[in-house]
Amino acid sequence: MRRWIILLATMAGLVAGFLGVLELSNARGFQLFGDIVARLDTDAPVVALTLDDGPTPAYTQTVLDILNERDVKATFFLTGRESAEHPQQVQAIAAAGHEIGNHSWSHKRMAFMSPASIAEEIESTDVAIRKTGYAGPLHFRPPYGKKLVALPWYLAQHGRTTIMWDVEPEADAADAASPRSLAEYAIANATNGSIIIMHVMYESRASSRLALPAIIDGLKARGFKFVTVSQLLAGRQQSSAAD
Ligand SMILES: [Zn+2]
Repeated sequence: MRRWIILLATMAGLVAGFLGVLELSNARGFQLFGDIVARLDTDAPVVALTLDDGPTPAYTQTVLDILNERDVKATFFLTGRESAEHPQQVQAIAAAGHEIGNHSWSHKRMAFMSPASIAEEIESTDVAIRKTGYAGPLHFRPPYGKKLVALPWYLAQHGRTTIMWDVEPEADAADAASPRSLAEYAIANATNGSIIIMHVMYESRASSRLALPAIIDGLKARGFKFVTVSQLLAGRQQSSAAD
């Protein structure tokens, strides 16, 4: 009897541990190694708009036009594969003054990937983006936000900051299919130093593209200024000098 209880307790512990590991791989503001940012702790009314995936020839210019009309600079987390396929789109993003980030080569989940594959995913993407002539900062965002041990370890060893987010309208809005609902969620939930994540590069993301102008206009009306991820991180220097 006693043996069974111990066995059951051990199994429950293992399940809890595994669930904990999965939870950790998703945590927006914590990882085991290295620098991770989901939001900047600041009194300044600044937000960073981050746009994941692509670039795609179909929608890059549409998105650039929306941003340009509103004089907003964003940060585009691009995949290496799509950057290599569409270097002109990468150049157009950079030429418009936006920041580019590394979003892995193939957009696979990286939580359980081997260290060698992780290095390949990240380095080949750096190469593809740099080949277009982009010389700016290249922060990293894991596909699906998934990370665990090997990925954070690699990033820490290479001095790379992991950029997550604290406002995700597509996941948390009452109705992700409604541009108005997406915009209302973003406008209501962004705070000083927020990092907003949106996906605007694929055909399936029409609602997000339609929501983008309203999100920008609404946040500007609340007094927020849009900055790139690097500009946002620059605001950390004072606080990190103190700790
Ligand atoms: Zn992505």
